[in-house]
Amino acid sequence: MLFNDFQPIAAIATTAVAAQKLQSLCQTAGATLWVPESLNNLKFKQVKFYKGSLKDHISSLWLQNRALVFCLATGAVVRLIAPLLEDKSFDPAVVVVEQGGRFVISLCSSHQGGANQLAQLVAHQLGAVPILTGAAADLGIPGIDVLGVPFGWCRGEGDWTGVSAAAARGESIEVIQEAGSILWQSHLREGHPFDFSASGDPKARIWISSQLKSHQTPLEGEKGKGEGVKDFQDNIQNPLLIPEVQWHPRVLWVGIGCERGTSKELLATAIEQTCQQYQLATAAIAAIATIELKADEVGLVELCRERNWPLQTFPAEVLSSVSVPNPSQIVAKEVGTPSVAEAAALVAASSETLLVSKQIFRSPIPNSTTSEQGGNDKILNYQGAVTVAIAQSELEYTGRSGQLFLVGTGPGRLDQMTPAAQTAVTKADAVIGYSLYIDLITGLGRPGQIIEALPITKERQRAQRAIELAEWGLSVAVISSGDCGIYGMAGLVLEELRHLGWDGKKPEVQLFPGISALQAAASRVGAPLMHDFCAISLSDLLTPWQVIEKRLEAAAQADFVTALYNPQSRKRTQQIAIAQNIFLKYRNPDTPVAIVRSAYREEEQVTLTTLDKFLNLPIDMLSTVLIGNQSTDIYSDWMITPRGYLG
Ligand code: SAH
Repeated sequence: MLFNDFQPIAAIATTAVAAQKLQSLCQTAGATLWVPESLNNLKFKQVKFYKGSLKDHISSLWLQNRALVFCLATGAVVRLIAPLLEDKSFDPAVVVVEQGGRFVISLCSSHQGGANQLAQLVAHQLGAVPILTGAAADLGIPGIDVLGVPFGWCRGEGDWTGVSAAAARGESIEVIQEAGSILWQSHLREGHPFDFSASGDPKARIWISSQLKSHQTPLEGEKGKGEGVKDFQDNIQNPLLIPEVQWHPRVLWVGIGCERGTSKELLATAIEQTCQQYQLATAAIAAIATIELKADEVGLVELCRERNWPLQTFPAEVLSSVSVPNPSQIVAKEVGTPSVAEAAALVAASSETLLVSKQIFRSPIPNSTTSEQGGNDKILNYQGAVTVAIAQSELEYTGRSGQLFLVGTGPGRLDQMTPAAQTAVTKADAVIGYSLYIDLITGLGRPGQIIEALPITKERQRAQRAIELAEWGLSVAVISSGDCGIYGMAGLVLEELRHLGWDGKKPEVQLFPGISALQAAASRVGAPLMHDFCAISLSDLLTPWQVIEKRLEAAAQADFVTALYNPQSRKRTQQIAIAQNIFLKYRNPDTPVAIVRSAYREEEQVTLTTLDKFLNLPIDMLSTVLIGNQSTDIYSDWMITPRGYLG
């Protein structure tokens, strides 16, 4: 799931040692491992053997894969891929794992191909250091050419190299955002080069809009009213012009009404001409909306499939309840609603106003096409009649299916967090958690990542926010300290999803376990959990105290080694004393007890004591209390619960 965006992935090794390095990675990432035929004694899963020259083999892998991961000298990789490189907007990502496994280099297609991100993910899996040599990574800002990817924005016209170069030089980049979510703006590192106020002296410009913008710097007072698109080369030749790029959030909802049998060609022309006339970018189209009756309209269905536009249909009753500028009684008589195109656009966009009201197109086709040679064939393709209307939504359609990673970060220090959990945090578009835990893992973040830290009591809001972002299409990591499923956020998120009628699939959910406090605490004092044990939380915020007391009694009586979570807060001081009394009923006063505070964090404190005395020591909400069973013993500062091997 973490590597979905890069599939299919091919990994390439030419020696047994290199193949070994890549093998487990290939399993996690779902990659195919390619090795030469001479290594056919390797018995790894997912391994395939290539015949003949590696060079020939790479040229076939090049076209069939979105990412190539080599464990080979960079020089060799450069020579192998050099003849194949074409364009950074569609070449596969190329990543090189250093043969010692210590470094992972993002070699090629680092932004649009995703090699930077892939190198980071691979590095986390291998416990290696990712090497990213692009300027954006260094500046701590998202790459200009991948800025809108999490939100499904489409790259439009522009001088992408020019704007990226200005960003790399740290020059001021004006951002004019007219459409789509501005969430990204509030999650940039301090000192970023973006200027949202349109007041400075920018050296480059980013338009984020549903409209097509001119590439010329507009004259004073004419900002945004550009005419036509000029080749970006002009910007380079004319020093007065600054490089610009355009991102198009998918906010346009195109309402369509059409006669039965209207051809795909006429529909396409109608949509394109409407967009052209209003200077709208077809790349900003989110979806096509129409009446239910047209759900099987062949031309429309085919066009949507070709252009990757979802087709949304609404029943006549829904459409007829919308007030529109151009209702028609004839249409009402025919299909039961006075408007199809206008009403469908408004409903789909959840908007009250249209950007473009009803435009009508009929065959024969527009002049430009009929007058061409061979026009007769084309005329045949232009059948029917179409009405087009367009509305713009507040929030963009991402076109992505969201993911929820429920991540346990372990007790605190990064080296106690699993590589898979680290990978999930790096991969996520958004990270949500309690501020203290977010601070502990800041090193894993990616430039541009949305980090939402909420106070400790806002668990439910955290879960709801995560689900909201995932339903919108983002991949969201919800982090808990320790294990996410032990007094963590995992259960809450799943419960909340169930409450919302989740189908179990969308958004996709994956859990990443972590070392829980009881394991972390135990490791600091020895092996107290060597026999049957249990965990009891003393917090009665969500659980009635009688229930907790009953469990304490049962655990004490059954001689479980017991880990007490949430043992004592400033306000809640009685519970731990009651717990002590209960255990004293069944265990000796000198039963070993460990108090471990902030295990694996800077302020860690570890104390070994006994059941009768442990209340004399400071205990708080950052502590875990481990109470030994009847055979637990202390030997030279080590707490040991015998399993019984020595009798
Ligand atoms: N999901 C977490 C538990 C959260 S409940 C886990 O699996 O560890 C919070 C309680 O966990 C705290 O009150 C404390 O009792 C315990 N705890 C969490 N981190 C700890 C640490 N680093 N050292 C000691 N106890 C810790």
